[in-house]
Amino acid sequence: MPRRLDSAQPPIAPIFTSQIEAADPTARDIQSRRWIYIPYDRFTDRVGPISEQPAEETGIVIVESTAKAHRRPYHKKKLVLLISNMRHFALEQAARGVSVLYHFSPLSHGQALRLLQEERSLPTLTLMQPAERELRLDLAQAVTDGLQLSQVPDTTWLSQTEDFTSVYGPYHREKGHTNTQSYVMDRFYRAMRKKSGILMENAKPVGGQFSYDADNRNPYKGQVPVPSPPSFPPDAITSEVITYVGQKYAHHFGSIEGFDMPCTQADCDRMWSFALDHLLPTFGPFEDAMRDDHLQLFHSRTSAFVNLARHLPLQLVRDVEQAAAKSRIPLASAEGFIRQLLGWREFMRHLHEQTDGYRLLDVPQESKPRAQELSPDRDEQTDPYTTSKAEPSARKKQIALPPDPYAGATPSALGASLPLPAVYWGVKSGLHCMDTVVAQVVEEGWSHHINRLMVLSNLANLCGFSPRELTDWFWFAYVDAYDWVVEPNVLGMATYADGGLTATKPYVSGAAYINRMSNYCGHCQYDPKKSVGPGSCPFTALYWSFLERNQQILGNNFRMQMPYNTLRKKSSADLVQLRARSEEAIAHLQSFKRPGY
Ligand SMILES: Cc1cc2nc3c(=O)[nH]c(=O)nc-3n(C[C@H](O)[C@H](O)[C@H](O)COP(=O)(O)OP(=O)(O)OC[C@H]3O[C@@H](n4cnc5c(N)ncnc54)[C@H](O)[C@@H]3O)c2cc1C
Ligand code: SF4
Repeated sequence: MPRRLDSAQPPIAPIFTSQIEAADPTARDIQSRRWIYIPYDRFTDRVGPISEQPAEETGIVIVESTAKAHRRPYHKKKLVLLISNMRHFALEQAARGVSVLYHFSPLSHGQALRLLQEERSLPTLTLMQPAERELRLDLAQAVTDGLQLSQVPDTTWLSQTEDFTSVYGPYHREKGHTNTQSYVMDRFYRAMRKKSGILMENAKPVGGQFSYDADNRNPYKGQVPVPSPPSFPPDAITSEVITYVGQKYAHHFGSIEGFDMPCTQADCDRMWSFALDHLLPTFGPFEDAMRDDHLQLFHSRTSAFVNLARHLPLQLVRDVEQAAAKSRIPLASAEGFIRQLLGWREFMRHLHEQTDGYRLLDVPQESKPRAQELSPDRDEQTDPYTTSKAEPSARKKQIALPPDPYAGATPSALGASLPLPAVYWGVKSGLHCMDTVVAQVVEEGWSHHINRLMVLSNLANLCGFSPRELTDWFWFAYVDAYDWVVEPNVLGMATYADGGLTATKPYVSGAAYINRMSNYCGHCQYDPKKSVGPGSCPFTALYWSFLERNQQILGNNFRMQMPYNTLRKKSSADLVQLRARSEEAIAHLQSFKRPGY
């Protein structure tokens, strides 16, 4: 007998498999039920095809693919979170009478589904349009190879493509770069507020303003206590996943110790209730604050769960709107949170889709994309996305391979291309802000928005580290990262690699901003008030050198006029010293060896 292509090593999951076996479909189930494919990021029965008929008439297919897990050195806690939520979702559906075909495979999702459909005589599978570009490509190939799928719109989103194109028009490569002003997110957000009626009264924004962003910029200095979030200790299913991931993906990024994230719908709901009652009332004013003693502050930490569809954005937005109406959440906090979900999250996803994952931009590309060296991880033999049997020898012989459709986009409008240094892997640099945030990412696979933007990405911009490498790092290191959200956030908002499509100016700062918005500098060996000389903070010299280096591209940007006016007033002697300090700082960061995968 030939070995079946998708026969997997038996998973270390006796507890889970013994529980899910009973839900495996009979021949009659297969004939009589409507069959739905549930991808690895859509664990909801509250909307979509799964909610359209009674449980006894529903069947679902779930694929646990090791090919996907091996594609990048994903944080171990991210893998535990995904796999445990996947297994718990399967059991939750089985408990309400849904027939569950749960399949382990070393193949990609598409190829595993194709073989499964053939072997089990499954009818056409319905699925919501996948959020990830990678999955869309994988399924498209499987459909070409014979998989029968019927795709319907994904109703977990708050908007559909037309909501975006009716504001900006469809994206055109030739117009995209010159027409950047029109992608200001606020236009989409206002249109969505009007269309949805969220935080609107008599066709006017509640409180008279669409945005209260200007009110939301305070540092945190203990004004109100920071509540302790609930913990979700692993149950038997999650413990089994922790053991499995710890063994199979031991070489991946991040710590697996102390995993305590929600993995059931009930726990996800409990986490949201806590955020709604205890965090969001104080979210707005301290949204941009950073602390080394309160890393989460008042952020909801919902992103990983919204991106898995455990939380539905409409429900979160409506809950917050109602709480604001009852004065349980101040309007500025409620609006700040709603803007993230109704505005930024939807906007980013459309921009990614419209530009084919930032591949259609008319901007300079990195000449040597190092992203290829980062992925897939060392178990690539099992990864059919990128690896055929012929591929390794082709590499050795330097035979040109066809372009990999899964390779990431490599825009670099500012010409940044230096390798990402070891500090992003947790090697201590002595920069207290960086060391604190990276330690949190290694530990938890998460940090809040301003740490991502104004510490991790800021340093990368200032030094000229490769935007693609930074994107890939965020992608595997963060529990909430998927291509549709991480690429626009990093290549667009955070690094300006897209030349201004997503943000009107680069988010860069010297030490003054970090010092004002955090307590990091108070615990650092460097002095945020000194820009050159012994003990000077590297951020400030790097900032001025960044402006100088990019003067041709950014010098006329109307939002950069103030810093450029200051730069122009600096003497040549000052600029020489700043350049020297900045080169020294980059050399220091590059001097540590980066772990390989
Ligand atoms: C460099 C960089 C990389 C990022 N990578 C990701 C990523 O991989 N995945 C991800 O979900 N978010 C990403 N973001 C956006 C944002 O930082 C996170 O969504 C947020 O910090 C998650 O924390 P929270 O759940 O406490 O969100 P809150 O601050 O409480 O915000 C509420 C919700 O708004 C949504 N949201 C807020 N901002 C954004 C945004 N810019 N894009 C999309 N959704 C947003 C999230 O789903 C979140 O659940 C990135 C931002 C930057 C600057
Ligand atoms: S002094 Fe500079 S390096 Fe140190 S924490 Fe502040 S900004 Fe970061």
